[in-house]
Parts: sequence; structure tokens; C-alpha cells
Amino acid sequence: LTSAVFKLVIGFALCSQPVPTLLKHFLSERCSNILSCFLYLCSAEYPDLRKHNNCMASNLTPAIYAKLCDKATPNGYTLDQAIQTGVDNPGHPFIKTVGLVAGDEESYEVFAELLDPVIKERHNGYDPRNMKHPTDLDASKIQSGQFDERYVLSSRVRTGRSIRGLSLPPACTRAERREVERVVVDALAGLKGDLTGKYYSLTQMTEKEQQQLIDDHFLFDKPVSPLLTCAGMARDWPDARGIWHNNEKTFLIWVNEEDHTRVISMEKGGNMKRVFERFCRGLKEVEHLIQEKGWEFMWNERLGYILTCPSNLGTGLRAGVHVKLPLLSKDARFSKILDHLRLQKRGTGGVDTAAVGGVFDISNLDRLGQSEVQLVQTVVDGVNYLIECEKRLERGQDIKVPPPLKQFK
Ligand code: ADP
Ligand code: MG
Repeated sequence: LTSAVFKLVIGFALCSQPVPTLLKHFLSERCSNILSCFLYLCSAEYPDLRKHNNCMASNLTPAIYAKLCDKATPNGYTLDQAIQTGVDNPGHPFIKTVGLVAGDEESYEVFAELLDPVIKERHNGYDPRNMKHPTDLDASKIQSGQFDERYVLSSRVRTGRSIRGLSLPPACTRAERREVERVVVDALAGLKGDLTGKYYSLTQMTEKEQQQLIDDHFLFDKPVSPLLTCAGMARDWPDARGIWHNNEKTFLIWVNEEDHTRVISMEKGGNMKRVFERFCRGLKEVEHLIQEKGWEFMWNERLGYILTCPSNLGTGLRAGVHVKLPLLSKDARFSKILDHLRLQKRGTGGVDTAAVGGVFDISNLDRLGQSEVQLVQTVVDGVNYLIECEKRLERGQDIKVPPPLKQFK
């Protein structure tokens, strides 16, 4: 620092550059966001959000920005880093995105003044200051978990889990990312029986093998999504990324994509109850193995499991089906019906794809404030309702928009 100050004084004496430019030049990039807030008025740094439609943009006021722009987490993660993806991606063609990501567990506390209202908007009114998040992984409670397979092609349940003490993908260093991979792969070697499997590192896979896994819906897409790249999550790709799966490819774990881990149970057909049973059993086993190695997942009672995107807090659970709804999806009421049932639609190639041939990925919209069992039941009931609508339309009968599911008080 002494040398930086010395150079600064000399530099200023020798040339006519303004102080801010010189200061920024001499200090590291990480400090520059914070420093910039000292040198310029916060109002001069405030992003132009006039054309934006994401939760960050709806909740970031100049006053909140001014309060938080010079704050950083103990790892040095700043508000500007957190919101960059939402600034660079004003909207998404298919879903309302959150528009900000956490760089570490502490982000949710340090930037709470922005994150709390974003979480409340995104999670159906859940108040992260005064509410407690429940966990329930008892799959035997699910009712009517078998879908009509003339409509449902495949069923899937996924969540994410983060390793406490290591920065999240938007902010982790290369060494931290490799440490995540090491810890997880080491633990997964302990899985037994039908869950026994193997880790496949992206760096050791051929291009063809990788593409085949993507096409078969097992592996995350290449980092083409600007939501990911603008959040810093594609840095060093494909270093320390990979997929672990059991021999049947019905239990899979993604390593270092958007989250440290994504835990997935899936199979063809409509047996959501069986998929959820394997999900619960495998997840408990994975947590146990991670703990045996002396690590734990990021979790607290207000926010549940802590993940990179605030949309995934709580359970992190997305239970979904690929379902054929050619008639209903053309009906003007489709979006409203989904909204009232707290369901989200995507294309079948992932969040950035459009639906083809009337086949949609339909899943729960919320993750926080309700347990895994409650959310899977919401999907089961909701998808059964959508299939009923599709059948009524096939017979030329009318359909109804159901009353909206309740918001948290
Ligand atoms: P996630 O929320 O798990 O990140 P994405 O929308 O990014 O989901 O999709 C990831 C991959 O998972 C894609 O290849 C997608 O086709 C696949 N996928 C998602 N839901 C299902 C499902 N119900 N059946 C089969 N594949 C699915
Ligand atoms: Mg994804």
C-alpha cells in the first residue's frame, strides 16, 4: 500500500490525469467498485434499469444502492458483482429472472436490504426476516404421484447444495472450485447399492460424449446462457466441472455449474413418487457422506439451503415433468392457470429454450417457505389438473382457471 500511495503521489505530480483515474489504476480490480463509490457519487454509479424486467430491477432503489455499494462480504464480493447479471440481462424471453446472484453465504446478510425484498417478491410473499423454512424429505407422504404416461414423458426432481466455507461459482477462485470437486467426488465414492456410480470430469470427456449427455437431458448445457456468463460462472470453463451418475443414470450430481452441486433424480415416464423417493434417499446419503469428511452444507433456518441464485433458496427443489399439452398451451388462459397453480413452464431443452411440439417442462415456481414434500405435491396436483384440462379440450369441453394458491401472509 505504501508503494501504491507513493506511486500515486508521484504519478499525480508528473501527469495531468484526474485523481480517480490514477487511484483506480493503482489499486486492484477487486477494490475498484468500492473505491469508485468513494470517488464518485453513488448516483453516478447507479445502473440504468429503465428497460429491465427482473426482480433485482424492481427492488433496487437509488437509496438501497447508495447504502450497499461500498459494502463487501469477507471474501470481497460486492453489490455490483452481485447485480451485474441482472444489469446485463434486462429480461428473459420465457421466465422472470431474479437478476442477481450470491458470491458466498455471507452475501445474503451483507446485501440483505436488497435481497430480502427480492426474495419476498420471488417466493410468493415469504418474509426472510420473520419466517422459518421447513424441510421434509419423507417421500411416502406424496399422494397420486403417478401421472398419466400418455401425457407425461419424463419426471425429474433436482436441488442444489453448497459446501460451507467455499465461495459460490460467481466468485470462487480456481483453487476453491477444485476443492469443491475434490470434496464432492471423494464423498460420492461412498454411495452404495443402486446409487453406486462414477464421476466423469468435463476435462476428460470427448466433445461427442459431452454432447450426447446434454442431448439426453442428463448434463447441464455448455455455458452459452448470458445469465451464467454475466454472473461470472463460466470462468475457467471446463476446469473442475463434471457429472457424477449411477449406472442407470437415474441419480446424478452436477459439479460446479451454477451451484457447487446439483443433485438430480430422474427417469422416463410419469412415476414422480418413485423419482422423489430416490431423490430423498440419495440426498440424505450424500449429506451424510459429506459430513463424514468433515464438511457441511450452507444452511440456516430462515433461508433454508443457501444457493447461488436467490430463486433456489430454501429447498432448492425443482420438481418437473416433460408433458405434452398441445391444446392447452395454445389456449389464452394457459399462463394464468400456471400462475395460479404456482407452476413454471420452460422448453424441454432447459431454461433458455422454447417449447417444441406442445411439450413443456412444467415445474414448481417456489422453493422457499414450503417443504420438499409440499412442493412436490403442488406439482403433482398441478400437473394432474393441466392433464385434465388437456383431456377436456380434446373432448371439446370448456376449462376453468383455478383460484390462485395462497400467498404467505
Ligand atoms: P435446472 O433447473 O435443473 O438447471 P434446466 O432448465 O437448466 O434445469 O435444464 C437442465 C437439463 O435438465 C436440460 O437438459 C433439461 O432438458 C433437463 N430436464 C429438466 N427437466 C426434465 C424432465 N422433467 N425430464 C427430462 N429432462 C429434464
Ligand atoms: Mg439450469
